[in-house]
Amino acid sequence: MSSAVDALSPRSHYQCVGVGAGPSNLSVAALLHHHREIRNVFFEQKPEFSWHDEMFFVASSLQVSMFKDLVTLADPTNYFSFISYLHANGRIYHFLNAQFDRVSRIEFRNYLKWASDANRNIRYGEKVVRIDFDGSFVVETTKSRVTAENIVIGVGTEPHLPSFVNGNLGETQFHVSEFSSRSGNLGNKDVLIVGGGQSGAEAVFDLISRKGQSAPATVTWVSKRENFFPLDDSPFTNDFFMPCHSNHFYEQEYTARRAFVERNVLGSDGISEQTLRHIYQRLYTLRFIDNAPPAVALLPDRIAGGLYRDGARWVLEVDHMQSRRRELVGADVVIWATGFRSAKMEFLAPLLNRLQREETEFKINSEFAVLWDGPPDRRIFLLNAARHQRGLPDPNLSLTAWRSQRIIDCIRGTSRADVPQLPSFISWAAAAPAAERRNI
Ligand SMILES: Cc1cc2nc3c(=O)[nH]c(=O)nc-3n(C[C@H](O)[C@H](O)[C@H](O)COP(=O)(O)OP(=O)(O)OC[C@H]3O[C@@H](n4cnc5c(N)ncnc54)[C@H](O)[C@@H]3O)c2cc1C
Repeated sequence: MSSAVDALSPRSHYQCVGVGAGPSNLSVAALLHHHREIRNVFFEQKPEFSWHDEMFFVASSLQVSMFKDLVTLADPTNYFSFISYLHANGRIYHFLNAQFDRVSRIEFRNYLKWASDANRNIRYGEKVVRIDFDGSFVVETTKSRVTAENIVIGVGTEPHLPSFVNGNLGETQFHVSEFSSRSGNLGNKDVLIVGGGQSGAEAVFDLISRKGQSAPATVTWVSKRENFFPLDDSPFTNDFFMPCHSNHFYEQEYTARRAFVERNVLGSDGISEQTLRHIYQRLYTLRFIDNAPPAVALLPDRIAGGLYRDGARWVLEVDHMQSRRRELVGADVVIWATGFRSAKMEFLAPLLNRLQREETEFKINSEFAVLWDGPPDRRIFLLNAARHQRGLPDPNLSLTAWRSQRIIDCIRGTSRADVPQLPSFISWAAAAPAAERRNI
Protein backbone atom coordinates (compact mmCIF):
# COMPACT_ATOMS: atom_id res chain seq x y z
CA MET A 1 0.00 0.00 0.00
CA SER A 2 1.26 3.47 -0.83
CA SER A 3 1.69 6.17 1.80
CA ALA A 4 -1.15 8.04 0.06
CA VAL A 5 -3.68 5.65 1.63
CA ASP A 6 -6.67 7.63 2.96
CA ALA A 7 -7.01 7.58 6.71
CA LEU A 8 -10.42 6.08 7.49
CA SER A 9 -12.65 9.01 8.36
CA PRO A 10 -16.39 9.53 7.99
CA ARG A 11 -15.58 11.12 4.62
CA SER A 12 -14.23 7.84 3.32
CA HIS A 13 -17.44 5.92 4.03
CA TYR A 14 -19.81 5.44 1.08
CA GLN A 15 -23.25 3.95 0.46
CA CYS A 16 -22.01 2.71 -2.90
CA VAL A 17 -18.51 1.94 -4.17
CA GLY A 18 -18.08 0.87 -7.80
CA VAL A 19 -15.27 -1.30 -9.10
CA GLY A 20 -14.54 -0.44 -12.75
CA ALA A 21 -15.90 2.42 -14.86
CA GLY A 22 -16.82 0.84 -18.18
CA PRO A 23 -20.34 1.40 -19.56
CA SER A 24 -21.97 -0.84 -16.93
CA ASN A 25 -20.78 1.15 -13.93
CA LEU A 26 -20.81 4.48 -15.78
CA SER A 27 -24.53 3.88 -16.11
CA VAL A 28 -24.91 3.30 -12.35
CA ALA A 29 -22.81 6.42 -11.71
CA ALA A 30 -24.89 8.49 -14.14
CA LEU A 31 -28.23 7.41 -12.66
CA LEU A 32 -26.89 8.02 -9.13
CA HIS A 33 -25.59 11.47 -10.01
CA HIS A 34 -28.63 13.43 -8.84
CA HIS A 35 -29.13 11.26 -5.73
CA ARG A 36 -26.87 13.30 -3.50
CA GLU A 37 -28.06 11.38 -0.45
CA ILE A 38 -26.22 8.28 -1.70
CA ARG A 39 -22.49 8.94 -1.31
CA ASN A 40 -20.76 7.09 -4.08
CA VAL A 41 -17.39 6.68 -5.73
CA PHE A 42 -16.24 4.54 -8.65
CA PHE A 43 -12.66 3.29 -9.03
CA GLU A 44 -11.23 2.64 -12.50
CA GLN A 45 -7.79 1.11 -12.94
CA LYS A 46 -7.06 2.78 -16.27
CA PRO A 47 -5.43 6.23 -16.10
CA GLU A 48 -8.16 7.73 -18.29
CA PHE A 49 -11.39 6.71 -19.99
CA SER A 50 -11.27 4.32 -22.93
CA TRP A 51 -13.74 1.85 -24.47
CA HIS A 52 -12.16 -0.94 -26.52
CA ASP A 53 -10.03 1.79 -28.14
CA GLU A 54 -7.74 -0.73 -29.85
CA MET A 55 -10.69 -2.02 -31.85
CA PHE A 56 -11.92 0.95 -33.84
CA PHE A 57 -11.81 -0.61 -37.28
CA VAL A 58 -12.78 1.00 -40.56
CA ALA A 59 -16.52 1.73 -40.30
CA SER A 60 -17.17 0.01 -36.97
CA SER A 61 -20.52 0.99 -35.57
CA LEU A 62 -22.63 0.37 -32.51
CA GLN A 63 -24.52 -2.93 -32.73
CA VAL A 64 -27.48 -1.65 -30.75
CA SER A 65 -29.82 1.33 -30.92
CA MET A 66 -28.46 4.66 -29.68
CA PHE A 67 -31.33 4.65 -27.15
CA LYS A 68 -29.45 1.85 -25.37
CA ASP A 69 -27.16 4.43 -23.81
CA LEU A 70 -26.28 4.82 -20.11
CA VAL A 71 -29.67 6.10 -18.94
CA THR A 72 -32.44 6.54 -21.52
CA LEU A 73 -34.33 3.25 -21.21
CA ALA A 74 -34.65 3.70 -17.44
CA ASP A 75 -34.81 7.49 -17.18
CA PRO A 76 -35.39 9.25 -20.52
CA THR A 77 -35.10 12.73 -18.99
CA ASN A 78 -31.68 12.12 -17.45
CA TYR A 79 -28.86 14.53 -18.43
CA PHE A 80 -26.45 11.69 -19.29
CA SER A 81 -28.26 10.47 -22.42
CA PHE A 82 -26.69 10.19 -25.87
CA ILE A 83 -29.08 12.82 -27.20
CA SER A 84 -28.10 15.13 -24.36
CA TYR A 85 -24.43 14.63 -25.35
CA LEU A 86 -25.20 15.61 -28.95
CA HIS A 87 -27.10 18.65 -27.75
CA ALA A 88 -24.46 19.72 -25.22
CA ASN A 89 -21.87 19.58 -27.99
CA GLY A 90 -23.95 21.65 -30.41
CA ARG A 91 -24.35 18.98 -33.07
CA ILE A 92 -27.84 17.63 -32.65
CA TYR A 93 -29.08 19.03 -36.01
CA HIS A 94 -26.00 17.79 -37.87
CA PHE A 95 -26.47 14.35 -36.35
CA LEU A 96 -30.07 14.23 -37.51
CA ASN A 97 -29.26 15.42 -41.01
CA ALA A 98 -26.40 12.93 -41.41
CA GLN A 99 -29.03 10.14 -41.25
CA PHE A 100 -26.63 7.49 -39.99
CA ASP A 101 -27.98 3.95 -40.04
CA ARG A 102 -25.97 3.29 -36.88
CA VAL A 103 -23.95 5.43 -34.46
CA SER A 104 -20.22 4.98 -35.08
CA ARG A 105 -18.43 3.24 -32.24
CA ILE A 106 -15.95 6.11 -31.96
CA GLU A 107 -18.78 8.59 -31.50
CA PHE A 108 -20.39 6.38 -28.83
CA ARG A 109 -17.02 6.13 -27.09
CA ASN A 110 -16.77 9.94 -27.16
CA TYR A 111 -20.24 10.11 -25.61
CA LEU A 112 -19.17 7.69 -22.84
CA LYS A 113 -16.07 9.80 -22.18
CA TRP A 114 -18.20 12.95 -22.01
CA ALA A 115 -20.46 11.24 -19.44
CA SER A 116 -17.46 10.10 -17.43
CA ASP A 117 -15.79 13.56 -17.52
CA ALA A 118 -19.02 15.11 -16.23
CA ASN A 119 -19.08 12.87 -13.17
CA ARG A 120 -16.69 13.78 -10.38
CA ASN A 121 -17.34 10.55 -8.51
CA ILE A 122 -15.19 8.53 -10.89
CA ARG A 123 -11.55 8.13 -9.90
CA TYR A 124 -9.18 7.02 -12.64
CA GLY A 125 -5.84 5.29 -12.08
CA GLU A 126 -7.02 3.39 -8.97
CA LYS A 127 -7.22 -0.36 -9.21
CA VAL A 128 -9.28 -2.17 -6.57
CA VAL A 129 -6.99 -4.83 -5.13
CA ARG A 130 -8.87 -6.16 -2.10
CA ILE A 131 -12.37 -6.17 -0.64
CA ASP A 132 -12.99 -7.49 2.86
CA PHE A 133 -15.90 -7.16 5.30
CA ASP A 134 -16.06 -6.09 8.94
CA GLY A 135 -19.67 -4.87 9.21
CA SER A 136 -19.03 -2.65 6.19
CA PHE A 137 -17.04 -3.56 3.11
CA VAL A 138 -13.44 -2.43 3.31
CA VAL A 139 -12.19 -1.57 -0.17
CA GLU A 140 -8.48 -1.19 -0.83
CA THR A 141 -7.25 0.33 -4.04
CA THR A 142 -3.72 0.99 -5.24
CA LYS A 143 -4.04 4.48 -3.71
CA SER A 144 -6.70 4.56 -1.01
CA ARG A 145 -8.87 2.69 1.44
CA VAL A 146 -12.59 3.32 1.89
CA THR A 147 -15.56 1.58 3.49
CA ALA A 148 -18.90 0.90 1.83
CA GLU A 149 -22.39 -0.41 2.49
CA ASN A 150 -22.77 -1.63 -1.08
CA ILE A 151 -20.30 -2.66 -3.78
CA VAL A 152 -21.09 -2.62 -7.49
CA ILE A 153 -18.68 -4.73 -9.51
CA GLY A 154 -18.45 -3.90 -13.22
CA VAL A 155 -15.05 -5.18 -14.27
CA GLY A 156 -16.18 -6.42 -17.69
CA THR A 157 -14.29 -8.94 -19.73
CA GLU A 158 -10.75 -9.88 -20.73
CA PRO A 159 -9.41 -11.38 -23.97
CA HIS A 160 -9.83 -15.14 -24.39
CA LEU A 161 -7.30 -17.33 -26.22
CA PRO A 162 -7.35 -21.06 -27.02
CA SER A 163 -5.39 -23.03 -24.40
CA PHE A 164 -2.72 -24.13 -26.92
CA VAL A 165 -1.63 -20.52 -27.52
CA ASN A 166 0.29 -20.64 -24.22
CA GLY A 167 0.51 -16.88 -23.83
CA ASN A 168 3.17 -16.78 -26.57
CA LEU A 169 2.04 -13.39 -27.86
CA GLY A 170 3.88 -10.62 -29.69
CA GLU A 171 4.30 -9.01 -33.11
CA THR A 172 3.42 -12.14 -35.09
CA GLN A 173 0.62 -13.47 -32.91
CA PHE A 174 -1.84 -11.33 -30.97
CA HIS A 175 -5.43 -11.03 -29.75
CA VAL A 176 -7.71 -8.78 -31.78
CA SER A 177 -8.05 -6.53 -28.70
CA GLU A 178 -4.55 -5.25 -29.61
CA PHE A 179 -5.38 -4.73 -33.27
CA SER A 180 -4.62 -0.99 -33.61
CA SER A 181 -1.15 -1.09 -32.10
CA ARG A 182 -0.06 -4.41 -33.64
CA SER A 183 -1.54 -4.41 -37.14
CA GLY A 184 0.33 -1.48 -38.69
CA ASN A 185 2.98 -3.54 -40.42
CA LEU A 186 1.14 -6.31 -42.26
CA GLY A 187 1.95 -5.21 -45.84
CA ASN A 188 2.76 -8.17 -48.12
CA LYS A 189 2.34 -10.69 -45.29
CA ASP A 190 0.17 -13.79 -45.01
CA VAL A 191 -2.31 -12.97 -42.25
CA LEU A 192 -4.61 -15.48 -40.57
CA ILE A 193 -7.64 -14.42 -38.52
CA VAL A 194 -9.25 -17.01 -36.26
CA GLY A 195 -12.80 -16.30 -35.07
CA GLY A 196 -16.09 -15.76 -36.88
CA GLY A 197 -17.76 -13.15 -34.66
CA GLN A 198 -18.06 -9.38 -35.06
CA SER A 199 -14.46 -8.58 -34.04
CA GLY A 200 -13.01 -11.15 -36.45
CA ALA A 201 -15.22 -9.82 -39.24
CA GLU A 202 -14.21 -6.21 -38.59
CA ALA A 203 -10.51 -7.17 -38.56
CA VAL A 204 -10.95 -9.02 -41.87
CA PHE A 205 -12.71 -6.05 -43.44
CA ASP A 206 -9.98 -3.69 -42.22
CA LEU A 207 -7.24 -5.89 -43.73
CA ILE A 208 -8.90 -6.49 -47.09
CA SER A 209 -9.57 -2.75 -47.41
CA ARG A 210 -5.85 -1.95 -47.26
CA LYS A 211 -4.26 -0.97 -50.55
CA GLY A 212 -0.79 -0.78 -52.11
CA GLN A 213 2.20 -1.34 -49.80
CA SER A 214 0.02 -1.78 -46.73
CA ALA A 215 -2.15 -4.56 -48.23
CA PRO A 216 -1.37 -8.05 -46.89
CA ALA A 217 -0.41 -10.65 -49.52
CA THR A 218 -3.12 -13.01 -48.27
CA VAL A 219 -5.89 -12.93 -45.68
CA THR A 220 -7.29 -16.24 -44.39
CA TRP A 221 -10.36 -16.25 -42.15
CA VAL A 222 -11.16 -19.34 -40.06
CA SER A 223 -14.43 -19.77 -38.16
CA LYS A 224 -15.85 -22.72 -36.27
CA ARG A 225 -19.40 -21.74 -37.25
CA GLU A 226 -20.71 -23.38 -40.43
CA ASN A 227 -20.84 -20.06 -42.23
CA PHE A 228 -20.21 -16.37 -41.51
CA PHE A 229 -23.57 -15.98 -39.82
CA PRO A 230 -25.36 -12.67 -39.23
CA LEU A 231 -26.41 -11.15 -35.95
CA ASP A 232 -30.15 -11.72 -35.62
CA ASP A 233 -31.38 -8.17 -35.15
CA SER A 234 -35.00 -8.88 -36.03
CA PRO A 235 -37.95 -7.67 -33.94
CA PHE A 236 -38.95 -10.81 -32.08
CA THR A 237 -35.35 -11.78 -31.34
CA ASN A 238 -34.88 -8.30 -29.91
CA ASP A 239 -37.63 -9.14 -27.40
CA PHE A 240 -34.96 -11.32 -25.71
CA PHE A 241 -33.36 -7.98 -24.80
CA MET A 242 -36.34 -6.68 -22.83
CA PRO A 243 -36.53 -6.71 -19.03
CA CYS A 244 -39.54 -9.05 -19.09
CA HIS A 245 -37.59 -11.72 -20.95
CA SER A 246 -34.54 -11.32 -18.72
CA ASN A 247 -36.82 -11.79 -15.69
CA HIS A 248 -38.48 -14.83 -17.28
CA PHE A 249 -35.06 -16.28 -18.16
CA TYR A 250 -33.86 -15.79 -14.58
CA GLU A 251 -36.71 -18.00 -13.30
CA GLN A 252 -35.72 -21.03 -15.43
CA GLU A 253 -33.60 -24.04 -14.42
CA TYR A 254 -29.84 -23.77 -14.98
CA THR A 255 -29.69 -26.40 -17.77
CA ALA A 256 -32.57 -24.74 -19.66
CA ARG A 257 -30.91 -21.31 -19.33
CA ARG A 258 -27.57 -22.59 -20.55
CA ALA A 259 -29.08 -24.41 -23.52
CA PHE A 260 -31.11 -21.31 -24.43
CA VAL A 261 -27.98 -19.13 -24.57
CA GLU A 262 -26.23 -21.68 -26.79
CA ARG A 263 -29.21 -22.01 -29.15
CA ASN A 264 -29.76 -18.29 -29.48
CA VAL A 265 -26.20 -17.02 -29.45
CA LEU A 266 -26.61 -15.33 -32.86
CA GLY A 267 -29.03 -12.93 -31.19
CA SER A 268 -26.00 -11.32 -29.58
CA ASP A 269 -22.80 -12.73 -31.08
CA GLY A 270 -23.39 -12.87 -34.83
CA ILE A 271 -21.86 -10.49 -37.36
CA SER A 272 -23.82 -7.35 -38.20
CA GLU A 273 -25.40 -7.54 -41.64
CA GLN A 274 -23.78 -4.25 -42.63
CA THR A 275 -20.29 -5.66 -41.91
CA LEU A 276 -21.07 -8.82 -43.88
CA ARG A 277 -22.25 -6.75 -46.84
CA HIS A 278 -19.10 -4.57 -46.66
CA ILE A 279 -16.90 -7.68 -46.69
CA TYR A 280 -18.79 -9.32 -49.55
CA GLN A 281 -18.71 -6.15 -51.66
CA ARG A 282 -15.00 -5.66 -51.01
CA LEU A 283 -14.32 -9.29 -52.02
CA TYR A 284 -16.23 -8.68 -55.26
CA THR A 285 -14.20 -5.54 -55.99
CA LEU A 286 -10.88 -7.21 -55.18
CA ARG A 287 -11.60 -10.23 -57.34
CA PHE A 288 -13.42 -8.76 -60.33
CA ILE A 289 -12.45 -5.09 -60.54
CA ASP A 290 -9.17 -4.25 -58.78
CA ASN A 291 -7.61 -7.64 -59.38
CA ALA A 292 -5.19 -6.80 -56.58
CA PRO A 293 -3.97 -8.30 -53.31
CA PRO A 294 -4.79 -9.49 -50.80
CA ALA A 295 -5.93 -12.91 -51.98
CA VAL A 296 -8.61 -14.05 -49.57
CA ALA A 297 -9.47 -17.54 -48.25
CA LEU A 298 -12.69 -18.04 -46.28
CA LEU A 299 -12.63 -21.19 -44.12
CA PRO A 300 -15.76 -21.68 -42.00
CA ASP A 301 -16.75 -24.94 -40.28
CA ARG A 302 -13.18 -25.44 -38.98
CA ILE A 303 -11.98 -25.72 -35.40
CA ALA A 304 -8.45 -24.60 -34.61
CA GLY A 305 -6.72 -27.37 -32.66
CA GLY A 306 -3.03 -26.47 -32.47
CA LEU A 307 -0.34 -24.06 -33.58
CA TYR A 308 3.35 -24.58 -34.20
CA ARG A 309 6.36 -22.74 -35.60
CA ASP A 310 7.87 -23.66 -38.98
CA GLY A 311 10.91 -21.41 -39.35
CA ALA A 312 9.63 -17.82 -39.30
CA ARG A 313 6.06 -18.90 -40.05
CA TRP A 314 3.14 -20.21 -38.02
CA VAL A 315 1.23 -23.34 -38.96
CA LEU A 316 -2.32 -23.65 -37.62
CA GLU A 317 -3.92 -27.10 -37.41
CA VAL A 318 -7.63 -26.93 -38.16
CA ASP A 319 -10.23 -29.69 -38.15
CA HIS A 320 -12.80 -29.44 -40.93
CA MET A 321 -16.00 -30.42 -39.17
CA GLN A 322 -17.99 -31.79 -42.10
CA SER A 323 -15.28 -34.08 -43.50
CA ARG A 324 -13.46 -34.59 -40.18
CA ARG A 325 -10.22 -33.97 -42.06
CA ARG A 326 -7.30 -32.03 -40.63
CA GLU A 327 -5.92 -29.12 -42.62
CA LEU A 328 -2.76 -27.06 -42.13
CA VAL A 329 -2.89 -23.30 -42.66
CA GLY A 330 0.39 -21.35 -42.86
CA ALA A 331 0.76 -17.66 -41.99
CA ASP A 332 3.28 -14.97 -41.06
CA VAL A 333 0.91 -13.41 -38.54
CA VAL A 334 -2.01 -14.90 -36.57
CA ILE A 335 -4.76 -12.70 -35.12
CA TRP A 336 -6.95 -14.36 -32.49
CA ALA A 337 -10.51 -13.03 -32.62
CA THR A 338 -11.57 -15.69 -30.15
CA GLY A 339 -13.69 -13.56 -27.90
CA PHE A 340 -13.71 -12.38 -24.32
CA ARG A 341 -14.52 -13.97 -20.95
CA SER A 342 -15.58 -12.44 -17.63
CA ALA A 343 -12.61 -10.73 -16.00
CA LYS A 344 -11.14 -12.37 -12.91
CA MET A 345 -12.09 -10.77 -9.59
CA GLU A 346 -9.04 -11.51 -7.48
CA PHE A 347 -9.90 -8.62 -5.16
CA LEU A 348 -12.79 -10.75 -3.81
CA ALA A 349 -10.38 -13.38 -2.41
CA PRO A 350 -11.04 -12.51 1.28
CA LEU A 351 -14.79 -13.08 0.75
CA LEU A 352 -14.73 -16.02 -1.64
CA ASN A 353 -15.95 -18.71 0.76
CA ARG A 354 -18.91 -16.51 1.76
CA LEU A 355 -20.26 -16.04 -1.77
CA GLN A 356 -22.58 -18.54 -3.45
CA ARG A 357 -21.80 -19.85 -6.93
CA GLU A 358 -23.75 -21.42 -9.75
CA GLU A 359 -21.30 -23.36 -11.94
CA THR A 360 -18.82 -20.78 -13.25
CA GLU A 361 -20.76 -17.68 -12.10
CA PHE A 362 -21.45 -16.07 -8.75
CA LYS A 363 -25.11 -16.69 -7.95
CA ILE A 364 -27.13 -13.46 -7.96
CA ASN A 365 -30.62 -12.62 -6.76
CA SER A 366 -33.23 -10.90 -8.91
CA GLU A 367 -31.69 -7.53 -8.05
CA PHE A 368 -28.23 -8.54 -9.26
CA ALA A 369 -26.80 -8.90 -5.73
CA VAL A 370 -24.56 -11.92 -5.06
CA LEU A 371 -26.06 -14.38 -2.57
CA TRP A 372 -23.83 -14.48 0.51
CA ASP A 373 -23.86 -15.15 4.23
CA GLY A 374 -23.49 -11.48 5.24
CA PRO A 375 -26.21 -9.06 6.40
CA PRO A 376 -28.97 -8.57 3.80
CA ASP A 377 -28.49 -4.78 3.76
CA ARG A 378 -24.83 -5.14 2.74
CA ARG A 379 -24.72 -6.15 -0.90
CA ILE A 380 -22.28 -6.93 -3.71
CA PHE A 381 -23.97 -6.21 -7.02
CA LEU A 382 -22.57 -7.88 -10.11
CA LEU A 383 -22.77 -6.40 -13.61
CA ASN A 384 -21.94 -8.19 -16.84
CA ALA A 385 -20.89 -11.46 -15.20
CA ALA A 386 -24.11 -13.49 -15.13
CA ARG A 387 -25.03 -14.38 -18.70
CA HIS A 388 -26.30 -17.80 -17.68
CA GLN A 389 -28.58 -16.21 -15.07
CA ARG A 390 -29.78 -13.05 -16.83
CA GLY A 391 -29.55 -14.13 -20.47
CA LEU A 392 -28.14 -12.75 -23.71
CA PRO A 393 -28.32 -9.04 -22.80
CA ASP A 394 -26.13 -9.35 -19.72
CA PRO A 395 -22.79 -8.54 -21.44
CA ASN A 396 -24.07 -5.91 -23.84
CA LEU A 397 -25.61 -2.46 -23.57
CA SER A 398 -29.26 -3.42 -24.04
CA LEU A 399 -30.38 -3.64 -20.41
CA THR A 400 -27.59 -1.60 -18.85
CA ALA A 401 -29.77 1.36 -17.83
CA TRP A 402 -32.60 -0.85 -16.55
CA ARG A 403 -30.18 -3.03 -14.54
CA SER A 404 -28.54 0.06 -13.02
CA GLN A 405 -31.89 1.54 -12.04
CA ARG A 406 -32.90 -1.72 -10.43
CA ILE A 407 -29.72 -1.73 -8.34
CA ILE A 408 -30.20 1.89 -7.33
CA ASP A 409 -33.81 1.14 -6.35
CA CYS A 410 -32.54 -1.70 -4.19
CA ILE A 411 -29.97 0.55 -2.47
CA ARG A 412 -32.57 3.30 -1.94
CA GLY A 413 -35.37 0.91 -0.99
CA THR A 414 -37.63 2.35 -3.72
CA SER A 415 -39.09 1.00 -6.93
CA ARG A 416 -38.51 2.96 -10.09
CA ALA A 417 -37.10 0.43 -12.58
CA ASP A 418 -40.36 -1.35 -12.88
CA VAL A 419 -42.38 1.74 -13.81
CA PRO A 420 -44.17 -0.80 -15.86
CA GLN A 421 -43.11 -0.89 -19.46
CA LEU A 422 -45.69 -3.12 -21.06
CA PRO A 423 -44.61 -6.74 -21.49
CA SER A 424 -43.51 -8.32 -24.77
CA PHE A 425 -46.17 -9.31 -27.31
CA ILE A 426 -44.90 -12.85 -26.74
CA SER A 427 -46.08 -15.00 -23.80
CA TRP A 428 -42.79 -16.43 -22.56
CA ALA A 429 -44.13 -18.47 -19.66
CA ALA A 430 -46.51 -21.43 -19.83
CA ALA A 431 -50.04 -20.93 -18.50
CA ALA A 432 -50.71 -22.27 -15.02
CA PRO A 433 -51.42 -26.05 -15.08
CA ALA A 434 -54.86 -26.84 -16.53
CA ALA A 435 -55.69 -23.14 -16.85
CA GLU A 436 -57.22 -21.92 -20.08
CA ARG A 437 -55.24 -19.11 -21.75
CA ARG A 438 -57.29 -15.93 -21.72
CA ASN A 439 -54.69 -13.34 -22.54
CA ILE A 440 -55.81 -12.01 -25.91
C1 LIG B 1 -14.90 -4.24 -29.67
C2 LIG B 1 -16.18 -4.37 -28.89
C3 LIG B 1 -17.31 -3.76 -29.35
C4 LIG B 1 -18.50 -3.86 -28.65
N1 LIG B 1 -19.59 -3.27 -29.18
C5 LIG B 1 -20.76 -3.39 -28.55
C6 LIG B 1 -21.94 -2.80 -29.10
O1 LIG B 1 -21.90 -2.21 -30.17
N2 LIG B 1 -23.11 -2.94 -28.43
C7 LIG B 1 -23.17 -3.61 -27.25
O2 LIG B 1 -24.26 -3.69 -26.68
N3 LIG B 1 -22.08 -4.18 -26.71
C8 LIG B 1 -20.88 -4.10 -27.32
N4 LIG B 1 -19.78 -4.70 -26.79
C9 LIG B 1 -19.91 -5.47 -25.53
C10 LIG B 1 -19.25 -4.74 -24.35
O3 LIG B 1 -18.91 -5.73 -23.43
C11 LIG B 1 -20.10 -3.70 -23.71
O4 LIG B 1 -20.40 -2.74 -24.65
C12 LIG B 1 -19.44 -2.94 -22.55
O5 LIG B 1 -18.09 -2.62 -22.79
C13 LIG B 1 -19.57 -3.67 -21.23
O6 LIG B 1 -19.25 -2.74 -20.23
P1 LIG B 1 -18.65 -3.15 -18.83
O7 LIG B 1 -18.55 -1.91 -18.04
O8 LIG B 1 -19.43 -4.26 -18.26
O9 LIG B 1 -17.21 -3.75 -19.15
P2 LIG B 1 -15.90 -3.05 -19.71
O10 LIG B 1 -16.23 -2.13 -20.82
O11 LIG B 1 -14.92 -4.15 -19.97
O12 LIG B 1 -15.35 -2.17 -18.50
C14 LIG B 1 -14.85 -2.74 -17.30
C15 LIG B 1 -13.90 -1.73 -16.67
O13 LIG B 1 -13.49 -2.20 -15.39
C16 LIG B 1 -12.13 -1.86 -15.20
N5 LIG B 1 -11.56 -2.73 -14.16
C17 LIG B 1 -11.33 -4.07 -14.21
N6 LIG B 1 -10.80 -4.52 -13.04
C18 LIG B 1 -10.69 -3.45 -12.23
C19 LIG B 1 -10.22 -3.27 -10.88
N7 LIG B 1 -9.77 -4.31 -10.15
N8 LIG B 1 -10.24 -2.03 -10.36
C20 LIG B 1 -10.69 -0.97 -11.09
N9 LIG B 1 -11.13 -1.07 -12.37
C21 LIG B 1 -11.16 -2.30 -12.93
C22 LIG B 1 -11.52 -2.06 -16.58
O14 LIG B 1 -10.31 -1.34 -16.71
C23 LIG B 1 -12.64 -1.54 -17.48
O15 LIG B 1 -12.50 -0.17 -17.79
C24 LIG B 1 -18.56 -4.61 -27.46
C25 LIG B 1 -17.41 -5.24 -26.99
C26 LIG B 1 -16.24 -5.14 -27.70
C27 LIG B 1 -15.02 -5.87 -27.18
